[in-house]
Amino acid sequence: MAEHSDVLLAEPEKMNNGWHGLFGNGNPIHIEVGTGMGQFIIGMALANPDVNYIGIEHFDNVIVSALEKVIDAGKPSNLRLFRANGMDLVDIFSEGEIDRVYLNFSDPWPKTRHVKRRLTHETFLKLYEAVLIPGGEIHFKTDNRLLFEYSLVSISSYGMKLRDVSLDLHAAMPKDNIMTEYEEKFSAKGQPIYRLESQFNN
Ligand code: SAM
Repeated sequence: MAEHSDVLLAEPEKMNNGWHGLFGNGNPIHIEVGTGMGQFIIGMALANPDVNYIGIEHFDNVIVSALEKVIDAGKPSNLRLFRANGMDLVDIFSEGEIDRVYLNFSDPWPKTRHVKRRLTHETFLKLYEAVLIPGGEIHFKTDNRLLFEYSLVSISSYGMKLRDVSLDLHAAMPKDNIMTEYEEKFSAKGQPIYRLESQFNN
């Protein structure tokens, strides 16, 4: 892993020069929290060279699988990965450093006692708001209707604007949609994919 430390960053909380310094440009930075094996973030990095992407995943074995895919994809220069819990975002990024957060097929945590672990819980929205630019965006896809309904309520109760809400993304598949691993799996079973875009009002 150490030999690929240019892609998989070992100590993301020690970015002294900031993230734009790391990428060596002022392009927008988009992060995916819970990137899994990386198919989405790699596809996005290859499709959009003028945007910088960071995939964040909290399991070691999963981030290593993502690293292998990034290597296979030729290590796009606008893509980095690191292992962290999304709870630690404010220790890793400065205020206003990030332009967009992607959440894809986030774990639903269906039990009420686990509600704070949902990545669209108010606790996480506060963290995203802290690291995003004013008016920063969250784009969210899921197969889980209950999580989607919960997220619509959580996001609108937070005072964010909702936009492009879809209850069946693949019915009119946007040309620029990059499928995640989970999206391929669930849509192959005929399940609808829910999607929303939201924007902070700050
Ligand atoms: N986004 C991928 C996709 O759509 O194929 C993976 C979806 S998978 C269901 C959810 C991923 O989010 C898992 O790999 C899990 O380890 C990661 N995850 C869940 N909670 C997280 C958190 N708080 N911080 C970082 N990663 C998290």
